[in-house]
Amino acid sequence: MNYSKKALKWATERSRNQPEFHQALMEILPTLQPFLDEHPEYERASILERLVEPERQIIFRVPWVDDTGAVRVNRGYRVEFNSAIGPYKGGLRFHPSVCMSIIKFLAFEQIFKNSLTGLPMGGGKGGSDFNPKGKSDNEVMRFCQSFMTELHRHIGSNTDVPAGDIGVGGREVGYMFGQYKRIVNRFTGVLTGKGLSFGGSLVRTEATGYGLVYMADKMLETLGTDFDGKATAISGAGNVAIYAAEKAAQLGARVVTMSDSDGYIYDPKGIDIAAVKQIKEQRRGRIREYLEYREGAQYVEKGLVWSVPCDVALPCATQNEIDEHGAALLVQNGCAAVAEGSNMSTTIKAIGILQGGGVLYAPGKAANAGGVAVSGLEMAQNNVRQTWTFDDVDKKLQDIMRSIYTNISETAERYGAKGNLVAGANIAGFEKVAQAMLQQGIV
Ligand code: GLU
Repeated sequence: MNYSKKALKWATERSRNQPEFHQALMEILPTLQPFLDEHPEYERASILERLVEPERQIIFRVPWVDDTGAVRVNRGYRVEFNSAIGPYKGGLRFHPSVCMSIIKFLAFEQIFKNSLTGLPMGGGKGGSDFNPKGKSDNEVMRFCQSFMTELHRHIGSNTDVPAGDIGVGGREVGYMFGQYKRIVNRFTGVLTGKGLSFGGSLVRTEATGYGLVYMADKMLETLGTDFDGKATAISGAGNVAIYAAEKAAQLGARVVTMSDSDGYIYDPKGIDIAAVKQIKEQRRGRIREYLEYREGAQYVEKGLVWSVPCDVALPCATQNEIDEHGAALLVQNGCAAVAEGSNMSTTIKAIGILQGGGVLYAPGKAANAGGVAVSGLEMAQNNVRQTWTFDDVDKKLQDIMRSIYTNISETAERYGAKGNLVAGANIAGFEKVAQAMLQQGIV
């Protein structure tokens, strides 16, 4: 058995009942083998065994009081997975599905993603099974304050820097930052995704979606085309989906679908992004409300976005949203490129179907790295107490996304997997982290 297989078996056996984490291990470890064959020193140093074992895993109680006066209890998590190349960095997810398996898969992916950005950030992730949907502002604030009252002792601007993810946006980051500052009596860049008036970076809100489209644009360039006139299917209607849609439309794409957990909208003329922003960012409403804004649009309850024919697909909802059926539909409909805005959007079998069907596919850890990259730029600005202009940050984001694409496609080619951006991203992300771990000794 080769080293990556041995490590995969070992890691899977010691993390029982963690299917999402197993999936991430299964997607990543085998692709590293060609690199490991060239570098036997990593097996001698048990780098994979160390890499798959989080440096620290924190689980805590989050008690809070709802608007009726009832005491509620949720569970909080922070997995500090790897700090070889920088402080732990990664978002917080508030969603009822959150459990250790999901946080571990996200934190593990984050190690590779953050390495690919070229910025000095380790990998971490956290969150809670708290469901912000339907909660009042005051309930969300009390929850965030309680969450931070425990989390604060584990984080710091040079230790671990959380940010947003599903269910955590500017409002939640603001409440958590306020509570952190109050407890420690220090104003530091301990979170990213902050408001612009207290250390946030321009472009952070747009970064994941914009970065995703910058990456997809490079992919289309490789295929000898561009976004102009391309039917683009987007799933989700959160922060990533909205700004992916906005940038794709700016580049001439026709965004035909967006969705939430209830269903999807189809607008053959191209979705009106301002309307979606109004619904999601102002009203905190449901995507079906789009029908109030546009004639000729349709709403399909519980439908699958990928059944709508498209040239480019940008999954921006959540993990495993493209399964074998969805992948087969995309191939059948002649989709040319899939770039993941959500983390691990595609199941392993579905990745095989896309790649086998000639679709150029970029995994989330490369394609959605723009969000955390601008978080890295926010940390840099906080450290030097400066604020850069929108154009400065946007330009840096474009450069980062382009160099990630070049890096992963060249790495894939170098290791005999031309066009396989999964292998390219995994090896390129691993290379730097593994080298840092080796040089730092047995820690
Ligand atoms: N949650 C985002 C991600 O998956 C952003 C993390 C961050 O900015 O730290 O990469």
